Amino acid sequence: MATITLEQEINPWEAQAARFEFAARKLNLDEGLWKVLRYPSREVIVHFPVSMDNGKIEMFTGFRVQHSMARGPGKGGIRYAPDVTLDEVRALASWMTWKCAVVNIPFGGAKGGVICDPKKMSMGELERMTRRYTSEIIEFIGPEKDVPAPDMNTNEQVMAWIMDTYSMHMRQTVTAVVTGKPLNIGGSRGRREATGRGISVVCDEALKYLGLQRDGCRVIVQGFGNVGSNAAILLRDKGYKIIGIAEYDGGLFNPAGIDVCALQEYRQRNGSVLGFRGAEPVDSAELLTWECEILIPAATENVITSRNADRIKAKIVCEGANGPTTAVADEILADKKIFVIPDILANAGGVTASYFEWVQDRQGYFWKEAVVNEQLESILAESFDDVLRYSEAHGVNNRIAAYMLAIDRVAFTIRQRGIYA
Ligand code: GLU
Repeated sequence: MATITLEQEINPWEAQAARFEFAARKLNLDEGLWKVLRYPSREVIVHFPVSMDNGKIEMFTGFRVQHSMARGPGKGGIRYAPDVTLDEVRALASWMTWKCAVVNIPFGGAKGGVICDPKKMSMGELERMTRRYTSEIIEFIGPEKDVPAPDMNTNEQVMAWIMDTYSMHMRQTVTAVVTGKPLNIGGSRGRREATGRGISVVCDEALKYLGLQRDGCRVIVQGFGNVGSNAAILLRDKGYKIIGIAEYDGGLFNPAGIDVCALQEYRQRNGSVLGFRGAEPVDSAELLTWECEILIPAATENVITSRNADRIKAKIVCEGANGPTTAVADEILADKKIFVIPDILANAGGVTASYFEWVQDRQGYFWKEAVVNEQLESILAESFDDVLRYSEAHGVNNRIAAYMLAIDRVAFTIRQRGIYA
């Protein structure tokens, strides 16, 4: 593994495949099932026009990859970014399969993406692009087929447009086609904070497991979007001390603890965390390597790589993002005895609340926020235990344990259903 190039190391599909293969071998997964689960079951690529505000037509490329539908409809977000690739969406789709299996909810795994630069697009352009992308993948999505959700650079408004476009084509309102919607059109209470809440639950469980104290426990969060900001606020409310925030355009540090609610307001007003007075400006990349109890990468892939893993000083790495650690870096962190809470467990609070939203839409009955939070907390705590039990029983690290648990559950379902081959 040490001989692979950096390019291979940071390819998310290779990262997924390396862990899948290791875990499948440990499980003695039979060859047929290995072949079934190794690759996605469907990959849709669409090229479609959008009329831009300047009157011109631009072509966009979008993807929807369905990795496995064995345990239920496909589930997974849609991301908008200039550097989205098919390999990335493939990896993200398979991570959704494993994530849904780790928390034992009845979904398969899918993911979508559109190559675009949302920061340079107007609301009108984003709306037209979203609607046309939805219409291009319309026969592949639906409440019983594949249910998209927000991911990087997509939000409740984008979900509302997808729901509306799908509903217009179906000639009836179909709220359960997407999750992460605004509250008044079938969204769920607690969905927005759910990924952050899940992170706070697994951090609590990790501290208990390792015999560490919660009060004053120092946390550095990388990324201050939906996941990072909500995780930081919920952790702060529980007594953790958020000493650092690393954003793409700069970092903040305050050893006495950052007032993350004030920072969230500041960011909403100014569009950036830079210039916030309650902390000192520092270099983001350096901040990741500073001393703390918990480091939470909550932005994007490939943040902890062979280039910086040996300098990480956190005792716990809790992955709010998907794929923030490369497979090579996994081994370095393991040698350093850093306790990793892998993405497919740590950030599964989001999709768990999405499951509740889908259930509520289909029930037509909406739960109180306390019910959502309570169910979410119990699922995440139980899943943490399940992963740790696997890790102890098989003598593997937490990431491989999570993959093994997930692959075992998906394989069990496929064996039960039988392979239509
Ligand atoms: N995009 C989120 C994730 O990666 C949420 C997916 C969902 O709710 O379906 O887990």
